[in-house]
Amino acid sequence: MLDTAKNPTRPIALDLQDIHKSYGSLEVLKGVSLTAYDGDVISILGSSGSGKSTLLRCINLLENPNHGRILIGNEELMLKPAKSSELQAADVKQLESLRARVGFVFQNFNLWPHKTILQNIIEGPTQVLKIKKDQAISDAEKLLDKVGLLDKKDAYPANLSGGQRQRVAIARALAMQPQVLLFDEPTSALDPELVNEVLAVMRELAEEGRTMLIVTHEMRFAREVSSKVVFLHQGVVEEIGTPEQVFDNPTSERVKDFMASHR
Ligand code: ADP
Ligand code: MG
Repeated sequence: MLDTAKNPTRPIALDLQDIHKSYGSLEVLKGVSLTAYDGDVISILGSSGSGKSTLLRCINLLENPNHGRILIGNEELMLKPAKSSELQAADVKQLESLRARVGFVFQNFNLWPHKTILQNIIEGPTQVLKIKKDQAISDAEKLLDKVGLLDKKDAYPANLSGGQRQRVAIARALAMQPQVLLFDEPTSALDPELVNEVLAVMRELAEEGRTMLIVTHEMRFAREVSSKVVFLHQGVVEEIGTPEQVFDNPTSERVKDFMASHR
């Protein structure tokens, strides 16, 4: 299904064109195209195994696609053929600089266990962006305050709840001043009572106009915050549109069934 939403005024933040990805003979993404304009919040829905994580991971080449084009802002990621018909970055420096502009928040937080919360957050800004340590610390403290965890700055991840760890992971992603934030089921590993504190932070980011792609099963949240909703099925965009279109008036029977079983 083609994305027909017109957006003449805002610049493009992320553009994926005809992304294909196979693992051996298993074709997981069969030509996915998706455009995020500045300030878009795009929720990606779909059953387990439909290719949602693979799509996010192709954006910053955590997985190498087999075909397609990726643009961050107006800069195209240069790709070249590699082993087993995959594409890899043609220029490692460009990949690093594009990766720094794409924040990734994972289901399982991926914090460094042996670093304090503050150290987790300043690592990227000091090592990759070359921001001076004093400045990075003061920026990190502001971000920790924003996610409500300034008092935990000297704690270690093991001493935090899952919801707190995920809020740290979000602060860490923000510290890189990313152009786009990718979230892969950020609340799926959390106990139910901890989900809302993370969604509240994400909602605030959406209201600030951050550009975000969010893989989630939190339907009410997706409906409320998204400018666009994408439904993936077996590596194909089955439905795409506004939340009203996709949740209330899907054209695909499969999406209707999915929505009916997720109310
Ligand atoms: P989703 O996130 O929508 O649940 P994934 O993108 O994780 O789906 O996976 C899509 C398909 O690709 C699944 O069939 C999965 O088993 C397969 N897959 C994912 N990662 C790998 C991998 N590294 N090697 C082989 N198959 C994989
Ligand atoms: Mg997944």
